Amino acid sequence: MAWTYDDANIFARILRGEIPNRTVAETDHTLAFEDIQPQAPVHVLVIPKGRYVSFDHFAAEASDAEIADFHRVAARVCRERGIASDTTEGFRAITNAGAHGVQEVPHYHLHLIGGRPLGRMLAKADA
Ligand code: AMP
Repeated sequence: MAWTYDDANIFARILRGEIPNRTVAETDHTLAFEDIQPQAPVHVLVIPKGRYVSFDHFAAEASDAEIADFHRVAARVCRERGIASDTTEGFRAITNAGAHGVQEVPHYHLHLIGGRPLGRMLAKADA
């Protein structure tokens, strides 16, 4: 089975410049921007510029340069937005994939969320 990328998804449109975004960081391979519906004082989305559907698609098929750049940008955003885990109270990095993961936008994105205590990731009753 292969991953199928939908070029009409909203992050593809952001990457093509068709709709605006509040850019936090940008490189040749990676874009970071403010989530439009922030769940905490800091809520930044980091996306690769390549056509990857999900975390596992990106991890399996992106180049080493894309993967390294993506994570360096994410770390820089944590530092610059004051949530880095060595000097602050930390943050949560989340990525949803597919229907069970309740992924709304089918372009891989990492949520960087912080600036307040976030509670447990999943309630034990959900297991
Ligand atoms: P997910 O459920 O993991 O696919 O998350 C999608 C995220 O994209 C949500 O947190 C939305 O608030 C966010 N989002 C949707 N459209 C936009 C947009 N145009 N600009 C920024 N964030 C967006």
